[in-house]
Amino acid sequence: MNELIPTTLTSEAIKEKAKSLGADLVGIADGALMDQFPPDPENPRTPSHITEIDGARVIVLAKRISFATSRLAKWNDQHKFYGDELLISALEELALDLVLWLEDNGVPGLLVPYHHVDPLKFEKGKDTQATRPLSAEHAAVEAGLGTLGLNQQLITPQFGPRVILGLVMTSADIEPDTKMEEALCLGPECGRCLKACPADAVQPWDRDWVACDKYRSPFGFEFLSDYLTSILNEPDQANKIGMLRGMESSEIFQAMLRGSGIITGCRRCADVCPVGDDYEDLLKKWVDEIAEETPEKLKRLEKMVAAASLPEAYENQKRWIGDFKPGEQQ
Ligand code: SF4
Ligand code: SF4
Repeated sequence: MNELIPTTLTSEAIKEKAKSLGADLVGIADGALMDQFPPDPENPRTPSHITEIDGARVIVLAKRISFATSRLAKWNDQHKFYGDELLISALEELALDLVLWLEDNGVPGLLVPYHHVDPLKFEKGKDTQATRPLSAEHAAVEAGLGTLGLNQQLITPQFGPRVILGLVMTSADIEPDTKMEEALCLGPECGRCLKACPADAVQPWDRDWVACDKYRSPFGFEFLSDYLTSILNEPDQANKIGMLRGMESSEIFQAMLRGSGIITGCRRCADVCPVGDDYEDLLKKWVDEIAEETPEKLKRLEKMVAAASLPEAYENQKRWIGDFKPGEQQ
């Protein structure tokens, strides 16, 4: 169990510092609560699984994504991948600056990596390839920054789901924030995330994460390992060399060079979500129409709206989705 370290720093001072370094939103989660309530009890990724000494508090940092990139309709527009990747780099730098500042002030700070795949544990078709050691979305809810939506994306009041998150753990004895109780998501009556999803991965209060991975990390670990395996399995030497010089190799090379398409990818569900102070003026007009909408998707949404009760997936994630009252969300 992580123990608190006495400090003269306050939560307010840490938030002020993080904002001065460039964070748009900052919240502080109680690591003990995160240990107590792992988002997936079968794969508990909690602060104590990372360290037993420096995870009593989890500082959650958010940077808004550029709204111009959200107005680009294609899920795989390179400007989105590139812009998000630059934002992740900026967030990592600001998180590192915060860690060093915390440590200059006598308390430890530990950065949680943005992206992590353990190849020894990765099981093709079963695992999601883009999990972090700690779920940043669930940490953000515990830190009072927002609630989870119909597809378990984080929604904030200020920017809807259009934020990128960073995590810093510390055991500084500072006051944690409390989570919001009411759901921000408008539910299946909105369903815009489901309508827009190119993978059709949005389930009632859940997501088919493996299907989503092919879009949110199109050149990620699975793509790389599949492609290298196919080269090894090719018996003809000339074909082998052709494959090494092919389009897929070039995609992998470019992705590894910048991270675009590995740590960044599809976020159509975030672009079209109507929650957020930024939506009405900066996005609505440009993202209102959803080209990916189909009659089958609309039928599934109708069924969700008509359902007599909320599904098990909602009950399992209720702590983070918040109190959702069908027909009453605003
Ligand atoms: S990130 Fe893309 S593929 Fe995944 S749920 Fe959102 S819209 Fe669907
Ligand atoms: S698009 Fe609508 S249904 Fe989906 S998360 Fe946002 S508010 Fe909820």
